[in-house]
This record gives sequence, structure tokens and C-alpha cells, in this order.
Amino acid sequence: MSSTSTDRASDHVTADARTVRGVSELQAEIASWHAEGMTVGYVPTMGALHEGHMALVEAAQQRNDRVLVSIFVNPLQFAEGEDFDRYPRMERADLQRCAAADVDLVWLPDSAELFPGMGKAGGFGITVDIPAISGLLCGQRRPTHFSGVATEMARVMQIVGSDDMYLGEKDFQQLVLLRQVARDLALPIVVHGVPTVRADDGLAVSSRNLYLSAEERAVAPQFYATLSDAAAQLARPGSTVDAVLDLTRVRLLEAGFTEVEYLELVSSTTLESKTATAPSDRLVAAVWLGSTRLLDNVELALAP
Ligand code: AMP
Repeated sequence: MSSTSTDRASDHVTADARTVRGVSELQAEIASWHAEGMTVGYVPTMGALHEGHMALVEAAQQRNDRVLVSIFVNPLQFAEGEDFDRYPRMERADLQRCAAADVDLVWLPDSAELFPGMGKAGGFGITVDIPAISGLLCGQRRPTHFSGVATEMARVMQIVGSDDMYLGEKDFQQLVLLRQVARDLALPIVVHGVPTVRADDGLAVSSRNLYLSAEERAVAPQFYATLSDAAAQLARPGSTVDAVLDLTRVRLLEAGFTEVEYLELVSSTTLESKTATAPSDRLVAAVWLGSTRLLDNVELALAP
């Protein structure tokens, strides 16, 4: 019996992407692509996929012949009391979204295979860390977070092998960290940063936006708006970095944010704190809205 075009259209909308779970199965797929001379673009995610993740997929599709997405909520990067258990998990919807975007393969790693025997004698035991980066900014309140990211991602990059990996500028510290992990470990993978995707009102799209109440969601766009104003002020000749940052902290609190966890001007390559501006410096911040933490950053628009 032949299906109608309407049937085929709905089949396409509800289809799941092709998946693999095991490392050897994944590596066999990648090896077969490489054997055909194709390059692989890798997009690591924790799922609950949104337009931000899909921008990474599009960037990969532009450069690479095949696109691999992984979905894995990495337990190493959550400290006790953080949101590991309540982090949104929606595998079926994610696989449909990947299928609709023509992702070639989705890797669903298994924790036990990724970290075999962790916590037992002779089990997975390495820690990868770059203390000069992981202690800064978000690392001040989350001292184990970035070593958790670096440890998992070093292993994952080693498993995937080459060629290109795509990360969002939204998580700027993570991008700088993983660029250096790839460099320090001489991994043959090029790390690309993709600009932050925003809602129409400027709020950076994030899986954690799901936690915001309607009132909080109405305040949230003031984060990007206030950071953008501050970046414009910093770009003006004669502006004083400390004065602009102090005023911006006050403005964020006045806008309704509960707390400014940090607000700093940093070097976009080392994340070192800056007291004078230079082109491509980043204004980076974390704020709290009730029990939700929001992250964002803006590049300074300075003439070189
Ligand atoms: P996550 O699933 O939150 O770990 O994010 C996976 C990747 O998507 C990371 O490289 C993030 O930086 C990136 N990402 C998350 N939100 C956005 C966004 N709004 N725009 C661009 N990239 C994003």
C-alpha cells in the first residue's frame, strides 16, 4: 500500500534520528565516514535541545560532511545540591528535533561505559583541570564544575577523535576552557565558538529558562539589555571600567535580579580580569532571578 504525501510529511515530523550508544559502535560509524574522506562535525549537548543547540548543528553542517550530536547530562559537572536530578530530560523530542534538522547520528553515551568503575579501585580515575581557568568567574561558586566539564569532555573528544567541535559562546568560560583542553592534550579536533542565539527580547536561549516563572521571564531580558548598555559605555573613549561595572551592578539589581554573582570585563582568550578595555574583550556575568541562575556575555564593540 502506498502512503500519501501527507502521511510521508507526518512520518518525517515524528521520525527519530539515528542513534548509537556504545563507544565501539560510534567509532565504527566515524571510521567509515573518515574512510570515505568525509569530515565530522561534533556538537556535544546535555539535551533539552533548543534553537541555540540547533545553531551549532547548522554551523557544523556548513563546514562538515557529517554531523554528530551527543546528548548526555554529565554527572561530573554537577556538585551535590545542584540541579542534576531535575535537569530537563526529553530524549524523544530531542531525537525528533535532530531528525528534522538532518543530524546524521546522535550518540547517547552510557555513564557506565564513559566512566568505567569510577569510584572503585582501578576504575576511571583521571581528573583533567586547568586551574587558571576553572577557578575564575563561574568557578568561584562552583569550584568543581569546570574540572567535571574538562574531565568528561577530554574523554569524549578522545573517543570522537577529529575533526571539528562546535560550542556556544553563551557558555564563554566553557568555550575558552575546552579550547585549551584540546590544545594542551594535542587532540586533533578544532574547537569553534558559535554566537549566542537569543529570543526576540534578547534573552539568551537556555534549557534553564524553563525554570523561570512568568514574572521572572518578564524581568530576564533586562540582563542582556543592561550588559549591552554597559558594553556600549565601555566602548566610549575615557570610560572607566570599574565605574561602569559598579553602575551596571546597581542597574541589574534595580531591574529586579536577586543577585549579581559576578560581572567582569575579561580577556576573550585567557579570561583574565581587565581594568582597561581592548578590542574583543568580553563583558561576562552571572545573575540570579529567584532560584534560577542566568549566564550571559557581550563582546566589546571597540575599533581595533
Ligand atoms: P548544554 O546542552 O546546555 O550543555 O549546551 C550545549 C551546547 O550548546 C554548549 O556548547 C552551549 O554553549 C551551547 N548553547 C546553549 N545555549 C546556546 C545559545 N543560546 N546559543 C548558542 N549556543 C548555545
